[in-house]
Amino acid sequence: MDDLLYKSTRSDDYTVTASQAILKGLADDGGLFVPVFLPKLDVSLEELCKMSYKEVAYAVMKQFLTDFTKEELTTCIDKAYDSKFDTPDIAPLVEADGAYYLELFHGKTIAFKDMALSILPHLMTTSAKKNQVTNDIVILTATSGDTGKAAMAGFADVPNTKIIVFYPKGGVSPIQEKQMLTQKGNNTYVVGIKGNFDEAQTAVKQLFNDEALEKELDDAGFQFSSANSINIGRLVPQIVYYVYAYTRLLRDQKIAEDEKINVVVPTGNFGNILAAYYAKNMGLPIGKLICASNDNKVLYDFFSTGVYDKNRDFILTTSPSMDILVSSNLERLLYKISGASSKVDKDLMGQLNTIGHYEITDDMRKELKDFYGNYAEEIETAETIKNLYESTGYVIDTHTAVAATVYNKYKQETGDETTTVIASTASPFKFTRSVMDAIDPNYDDLSDFQLVDELSKIANVKVPGAIEEIRTAPILHDTVVEVAGMKDAVKKILGL
Ligand SMILES: *Cc1c(COP(=O)(O)O)cnc(C)c1O
Repeated sequence: MDDLLYKSTRSDDYTVTASQAILKGLADDGGLFVPVFLPKLDVSLEELCKMSYKEVAYAVMKQFLTDFTKEELTTCIDKAYDSKFDTPDIAPLVEADGAYYLELFHGKTIAFKDMALSILPHLMTTSAKKNQVTNDIVILTATSGDTGKAAMAGFADVPNTKIIVFYPKGGVSPIQEKQMLTQKGNNTYVVGIKGNFDEAQTAVKQLFNDEALEKELDDAGFQFSSANSINIGRLVPQIVYYVYAYTRLLRDQKIAEDEKINVVVPTGNFGNILAAYYAKNMGLPIGKLICASNDNKVLYDFFSTGVYDKNRDFILTTSPSMDILVSSNLERLLYKISGASSKVDKDLMGQLNTIGHYEITDDMRKELKDFYGNYAEEIETAETIKNLYESTGYVIDTHTAVAATVYNKYKQETGDETTTVIASTASPFKFTRSVMDAIDPNYDDLSDFQLVDELSKIANVKVPGAIEEIRTAPILHDTVVEVAGMKDAVKKILGL
């Protein structure tokens, strides 16, 4: 079989292999890499039912990363999905109040980013080897809270790599911040910025596109790559758990053969839900893709009007990893629904860049019929956490609660009772204060770690290792810069 090649969403000039796309992160024209066609599963769902998480991962990923040998890919998978995860299921399904919560937070940093970021460093160093790259890889990442820590945990002390993480100072939870600032590893760097996530992300994109800087790096033996969810090495591993979840439901006879399921995803950068869409395109029986937003409801507006408009106030919420106004991965969906037109995509992205909004055509909107978008206000999110806890004893985090709220709205609106999987994207222990506040405002007086212990008691869940670890860990990073100072910060770190 010929390799599945990747191209930019913004031009048809050239193609690259999967390993080259992983190394580059972003295409030269600023577009995102997409496969020239979306592959199908070539293993039956019945066979997948009998497989472990790692085996499902191989069956899915080999369809996308066709230039990896079987040995290369299985080695990457083996290194990623091991005892770093605190359950052998890797991504267990928990039934509560009539829905299935797909717990994607059993990795090192107790958020779903671990699902992809525990394998990305291995995909990347394997890709470097395959392409005779001798430069050290410098991972440059903007984070809204979870990516940064998960990326550092993945790359820490991986030879021939460095990782620099920018996060909005004051825009992440105290536990998220402490997790990052205590990160070990002599190749990890954390920089707070005086700005929000979108500003950090825009500045990182500019650094990637800075040709003079690229040359300077190359002379010094470095090259940039991205661990953000725009990297296809992030996207592809995320498809796996949707296939895994479906086949667990099938195996346990919760659904019949070929029965469709709906999927609800708490969405920020549109990476996780795009992975579900790709899974559907691979042939997985998914009905509706339910896109849940918080008060930053730019995607809800997009799905209901066909207009994407980032010109609005940026709202800090209790689900900070979804506080995003520019959902980067939406570009891949636009490309798909435009009939793979790089011209349309480039034009829309140009409008987004210059005037901050764009409108898609009616034909493109028709292609969105499998998506449903809605949003949850802060008070609704808190009520959902409280109600679910009180009726079932199950405690979910704020992001997952946004999804559960939107799922309830969807059911009320449509009466659709299709079996549903809700992507549970973070452990409640990562957002303890907001979660405990939702359950009972009287918890307000307790310290962060007292709250952790209290949550453990009421939810009857052991405190995760990731939290125990930072109770006493020393702060190792303290740099804070202006957005305009990010380039200099990078140069300083690399000694340029
Ligand atoms: C990153 C993140 C999200 C949003 O995922 P996207 O792929 O960016 O849409 C939701 N919840 C949590 C906890 C996250 O860390």
